[in-house]
Amino acid sequence: MALIINDNCTACDACKPVCPNEAIAVGDPIYIIDPSRCTECVGAEDEPQCKLVCPADCIDPDPEHRETPEELMAKYESLH
Ligand code: SF4
Ligand code: SF4
Repeated sequence: MALIINDNCTACDACKPVCPNEAIAVGDPIYIIDPSRCTECVGAEDEPQCKLVCPADCIDPDPEHRETPEELMAKYESLH
């Protein structure tokens, strides 16, 4: 499942540089995760790095983009 940034985002920029898939973009007013690039960090890390560093706790699972671990790994491999 890709993750999604909610309206509590303060645009602090902590998450963007830690994403292994370059899935996070600067938006206006909040940052945006590209679901076609977010693997929930599967393939690169043990847990979602953006959630770890986000001081606003504003990154949630995106119910519109449900994927199995195998699908997330396949996405990761296609991106790298
Ligand atoms: S969960 Fe991982 S891959 Fe997805 S946006 Fe966050 S840092 Fe990037
Ligand atoms: S770390 Fe959290 S508050 Fe900061 S830009 Fe990313 S989503 Fe927004």
